[in-house]
Amino acid sequence: MNSSSTAKTLLFWISIVFLGILLWKLVSANKSPTEVVSYSDFLQMIDNKEVLSSKIYLQANSANVYALLRGSQKYVQTTIATSDLPEITARLKDAGAKIEISEVKSGDWTLILLNAAPLILLVGFCLFLMRQMKGNAKRALVLQAATARTGIGYDLHRLEYGRPLIVGGIELPFDKGPVGHSDGDVLAHALCDALLGAAGLGDIGTHFPDTDPKWNGANSMLFLEHTKKLLDEKQFAIEHVDAVVITEKPKLGPHFPKMREALAKALGVSIDHIHLKAKTNEGVDAIGRGEAIAAHVVATLTSR
Ligand code: MG
Repeated sequence: MNSSSTAKTLLFWISIVFLGILLWKLVSANKSPTEVVSYSDFLQMIDNKEVLSSKIYLQANSANVYALLRGSQKYVQTTIATSDLPEITARLKDAGAKIEISEVKSGDWTLILLNAAPLILLVGFCLFLMRQMKGNAKRALVLQAATARTGIGYDLHRLEYGRPLIVGGIELPFDKGPVGHSDGDVLAHALCDALLGAAGLGDIGTHFPDTDPKWNGANSMLFLEHTKKLLDEKQFAIEHVDAVVITEKPKLGPHFPKMREALAKALGVSIDHIHLKAKTNEGVDAIGRGEAIAAHVVATLTSR
């Protein structure tokens, strides 16, 4: 959870607590109403021994007196001058009433908070709205800043008997395979070119020259993994890949799930970013005669 959502959660629960206290005080107030009485009436109540107990809250020049009346849950309250305090306490003692004196009225903080609760709720709601608006504005800026770029890739390899046929990182059961410096994976190679082209980073030959012996027989998934690193360094995200592989045989469709999985894994994306299609060449030219396999790929990137 980030700091923004933590603050929102905290604010939410503080608001709930305040509302709870507010409701409780309203309910409590209805059950035990406090009646404000005059000083003289209060003295009369003391002398009549109606007061069971009292709480006196001292202030700068005055004191608030709350008294619980005998035989009921009713409270009365009056305000006296500090100079009257000795007389009041003496009368209360004579009347057998319990006396409790506090410098500051306990519970004042509750009243202060309750009075401030609507303001706090309003401020909290405004802050929440401001954060939402700020977040929306930021998201809009990000969307505006994201630029989509598209690249195209193509590759073709001759097919010869006795070589493994690897397409999209998967070895397929077939009697022919591509002739190439690496594993001859046309789909992976066209995909590399599409990605590099979209990012303006050259082509597969730039980064993995077929004159370099270290790529002899290399697994083309390594090319894709390296391409993904180059895209990350340039802050590009892969949005979508659409590919068509052209070969007369074998049928590729049944192998697409595994190919998508392998390609997505190499590129660090989910498989729904990879879309594959298969075509034959209707017996026309080298592909149609089963002498070659080719792939076309279109890749879409966004800059972050
Ligand atoms: Mg190639």
